[in-house]
Amino acid sequence: MASDADCIFCKIVAGEVPADVVHRTDTTIAFRDLEPQAPTHVLVIPVRHYPDVAAVAAAEPELAADLLAAVGAIAKQEGLDDGYRTVFNTGALAHQTVLMQQQLSRDGVTPAALARFRTALGATLQALDG
Ligand SMILES: [Zn+2]
Repeated sequence: MASDADCIFCKIVAGEVPADVVHRTDTTIAFRDLEPQAPTHVLVIPVRHYPDVAAVAAAEPELAADLLAAVGAIAKQEGLDDGYRTVFNTGALAHQTVLMQQQLSRDGVTPAALARFRTALGATLQALDG
């Protein structure tokens, strides 16, 4: 399938939905996540619509390689010299329209995770005070 009318990523590729694009090739496009879970959180997707990365690898192995090459180029461009994480989301966990993404994270601990820890710690301390 070249594109899917209900897919938010296809709309980003088509320019119908704005995105902060950080990298683009003939076969891939990368943009910053709207709700970043790390200081650097970039989604890398193929320009053509696929349900998940396994389908990409099965249909176009060279496209799977393009995606990983894009991850490497973006990591260098973003200065992620200390390392980063690459995540592939698939199926229900990824939301029905968010079928594949790759995440580049500078830190293992995300701001959101730290905020949750602080909230939990605060509640524990309050319980001890009471
Ligand atoms: Zn799509």
